[in-house]
Amino acid sequence: MGGGGGGGSLERILVSVRLRPLNAKEKEKGDASDWECINNTTIIFKNSLPDRSMLPAAYTFDRVFGCECATRQVYEEGAKEVALSVVSGINSSIFAYGQTSSGKTYTMTGITEYSVADIYDYIQKHAEREFILKFSAMEIYNEAVRDLLSADTTPLRLLDDPEKGTVVDKLTEETLRDQDHLRELLAVCEAQRQNGETSLNEMSSRSHQILRLTIESSAREFLGKDSSSTLAACVNFVDLAGSERASQALSAGVRLKEGCHINRSLLTLGTVIRKLSKGRNGHIPYRDSKLTRILQPSLGGNARTAIICTMSPARSHIEQSRNTLLFASCAK
Ligand code: ADP
Ligand code: MG
Repeated sequence: MGGGGGGGSLERILVSVRLRPLNAKEKEKGDASDWECINNTTIIFKNSLPDRSMLPAAYTFDRVFGCECATRQVYEEGAKEVALSVVSGINSSIFAYGQTSSGKTYTMTGITEYSVADIYDYIQKHAEREFILKFSAMEIYNEAVRDLLSADTTPLRLLDDPEKGTVVDKLTEETLRDQDHLRELLAVCEAQRQNGETSLNEMSSRSHQILRLTIESSAREFLGKDSSSTLAACVNFVDLAGSERASQALSAGVRLKEGCHINRSLLTLGTVIRKLSKGRNGHIPYRDSKLTRILQPSLGGNARTAIICTMSPARSHIEQSRNTLLFASCAK
């Protein structure tokens, strides 16, 4: 799979697909369930199509999760290793990609919870080190970055720091006391998201949410003496805008107006991921969008990446599901 020669497993992007169950509305409409995970890695289109040339019948990924799989399993097998690399000083990003209502938020919420619990568990078992956890949260909507921990909705600027690379200027960063504190902050984020002028539904289908946990640790004996014993890294939990925005933009000849337009961040992320998965040669256009600029230190290099592509099993969503599988295929 991706990564090109050299760095082995560290370079790979972990790509999985998660199928959600048919929902009540789809069942009511008599929508058929088209897809089936036939083993841990293969998802097939199980029904016949009017136009069979339309799609391959089977797709293989690092992992696939059928509609019977709980989020716990998706986390354990599709994200845990990547999330936990942060305690060893390795940056990581975990993405949920898929059309609106395919299960991105459902999946990412669970994965964030399980990751945080495991990180705290790790910290408790490593009393020889001192850990400091910090949390920040932002939303990207129409290429404007907003702080989800602040009531101020003024867009934040991105600055180029000679050492840290791109930093989000004035982004609130809270030092976490414990897991309950994090739960409180997540509730603040949720409230901030609902505060906007745009309806939450519309907003979440068009905006990207990044929850970022930064972990610094140092060996207790060397505290304050030996900076080489200090590790710092962050893990980003990214709930992406609905992928239908990218496919709309990709369809030929569409000229969309400023404002309701092509989701630049989603398109650029696709390009960056495709290039990374093919190996690191050549120019990677991180700077073409806010999302990829912000995440650059946590993409590529020795950073770890997991992408969970969520899809609806419904016949009525076949076009979007196919696009999602194509995106996932390009990422692996
Ligand atoms: P998205 O964030 O992609 O728009 P959501 O995560 O909000 O989609 O999911 C849409 C609806 O489907 C929600 O009501 C959610 O609870 C439900 N849902 C999504 N995935 C699953 C799943 N794997 N099992 C059960 N319900 C799910
Ligand atoms: Mg959502």
